[in-house]
Amino acid sequence: MDKKNIADNSSQKPNVNWKSLLWTIALLLILNSLVFPYLFKPKIIPTTYSAFISKVDSGLVKQVNIDGNKVYFTTPNGEVDRKGNPIDAIFQTGRMSDANLVDRLLEAESPNENCKIEFSETIPRENSPILNFLLFWVLPGAIFFFIWRNAMRSMRGKLGGNYMSFGQNKEKIYAEDEIKTTFADVAGQEEAKESLNEIVDFLHNPKKYTEIGATLPKGVLLVGPPGTGKTLIARAVAGETKVPFFALSGSEFVQMFVGMGAAKVRDLFSQANKKAPCIIFIDEIDAIGKRRDGITTNDEREQTLNQLLTEMDGFNGQKGVVILAATNRPESLDKALLRPGRFDRRVQMELPDLEGRKAILQVHLKKIQHDEIDLDLIARATSGASGAELANIVNEAALRAVRNNRNSVITNDLEESIETVIAGAKRKGKVISDEEKRIIAYHEIGHALVAAMQTHSAPVHKITIIPRTSGALGYTMQIDESERNLFSKEDLENRIATLTGGRAAEEVIFNKVTTGASNDIEQATKLARAMVTRYGMSEEFDMVALETINNPYLSSDTSLSCSPETAARIDDVVLSIVKKAHEKAKKIIRENENKMHELSEYLIKKETITGEEFMNILKNKTT
Ligand code: ADP
Ligand code: MG
Ligand code: ZN
Repeated sequence: MDKKNIADNSSQKPNVNWKSLLWTIALLLILNSLVFPYLFKPKIIPTTYSAFISKVDSGLVKQVNIDGNKVYFTTPNGEVDRKGNPIDAIFQTGRMSDANLVDRLLEAESPNENCKIEFSETIPRENSPILNFLLFWVLPGAIFFFIWRNAMRSMRGKLGGNYMSFGQNKEKIYAEDEIKTTFADVAGQEEAKESLNEIVDFLHNPKKYTEIGATLPKGVLLVGPPGTGKTLIARAVAGETKVPFFALSGSEFVQMFVGMGAAKVRDLFSQANKKAPCIIFIDEIDAIGKRRDGITTNDEREQTLNQLLTEMDGFNGQKGVVILAATNRPESLDKALLRPGRFDRRVQMELPDLEGRKAILQVHLKKIQHDEIDLDLIARATSGASGAELANIVNEAALRAVRNNRNSVITNDLEESIETVIAGAKRKGKVISDEEKRIIAYHEIGHALVAAMQTHSAPVHKITIIPRTSGALGYTMQIDESERNLFSKEDLENRIATLTGGRAAEEVIFNKVTTGASNDIEQATKLARAMVTRYGMSEEFDMVALETINNPYLSSDTSLSCSPETAARIDDVVLSIVKKAHEKAKKIIRENENKMHELSEYLIKKETITGEEFMNILKNKTT
């Protein structure tokens, strides 16, 4: 394994001897003054002064020793030690200002043969001045020094770099040699694999390329939403090429002290040059590669970025060092990073489509025991899910199979775990009154009915009124028959009408409104707003972009780019879209009130019904 100390200066060496010497002295002193005396001291029994006097008067005391303000005395008590010699019990008591004590001791009888009580006073011991100096000045100083030094060192370890005069870098950058991940582990993402295959091929037989004079792209930037397999595919490239793999996260470069991150970059590249051909992978590169905006400054990050740019320019592309980097915020990267000669190739990782989701599910299902799975259904039900989410769904399904004492996963486990991921786990303990249950059932049937009565709506797959931990009291699940990429204005209007269907049912049937529609309202508003501001679907604003998405891969947060007057008019248009959809939903429900009752009663009885059951009841009545 490699290790690299940036400045392995030997000036620190003598400290080691000093240190052990001082430690030894300190240890001996501590042992000497604290531990040994207690270790070898006989047992001392505390007693009262009056007991002492009465023992003296009764002639039971052999020896008395006065030490400071303590009085120690011995009496023969007949106990023997391990060798069989008799031991005297030692008692201790406080010294009182007893002027007669000496006279009393002189007079008293004692068990000593032909003599009185032996008594003495201990002379206070004076330490030598040198010892005192060492003990009270040098030792505490030394101890504090070492504590401080160790604290600094561990702090430096955490910050990972050089610090002040301690010019050592204890951080080591290791290359991983044997990576097992291969392209077979990355499902879908065919374009990305194709693009990266060239790099794999170059590292396998560089000659083919150098003969013609071609150089490898130095840097490849993997871009895409979280969980699409960027980290995974980078490892797969290393696994395919079987070259050393240096993997670091961008945040590992950003240090507390200016210059440390840059030193780490230098270190990384010098390591990589020695190990070429090899792959450097910088995950989440936006941590260092953020655009320099000129407003806020961050010296450390800028120095690190500059160092990275310099290193990337400096090394020879034919040597076979490839830099992969991943980010889900490509729009925030500095332009300098993206120019040719640096990260000049961009590999887009997208959320998987229907086929991609099937492939990913298959990759992960391979790792677990399972029966025949309706892959198509699961893939359709997980529209918009990332690879990471699919991996999670498969694992949840396996856990559910174990919970139900099965040794193999079935389709139903996967369906259930999708719901768990979307809506949270079932809340068994939640108490819902019959009256509320009725409202919830009508609300859900309202959604389903409005969906079913409009053309081009995704078919209803499942309706349930079992509450979930996410707070949902029930939900209606719709699954499209095939992957949709385009939605017409009518599709979106239908979708909004479906969202308002729940509330519409409450109004028509119970003639009252509840809080149960809050999530529907939020979604409907968002959709209507997007129609106006981003999709150009209103008469009023035609094809003018009024909002932009901030981080396309991370959230759907938008910023308005129009005047306040326009913003007010947008609100009006959004309102009218939602209102129109709401009216339409109410009309559908009024026209089908009988079916509403029938379906809702059925749902209350069953709690969960399938789309098929729903459609059967609906169709029986109409035909
Ligand atoms: P990213 O780096 O893009 O955020 P990761 O590479 O860390 O995502 O993916 C997380 C996990 O999701 C992977 O370990 C893998 O289990 C799963 N995963 C993501 N994409 C795929 C894919 N295309 N094929 C198989 N598994 C995938
Ligand atoms: Mg990642
Ligand atoms: Zn609803």
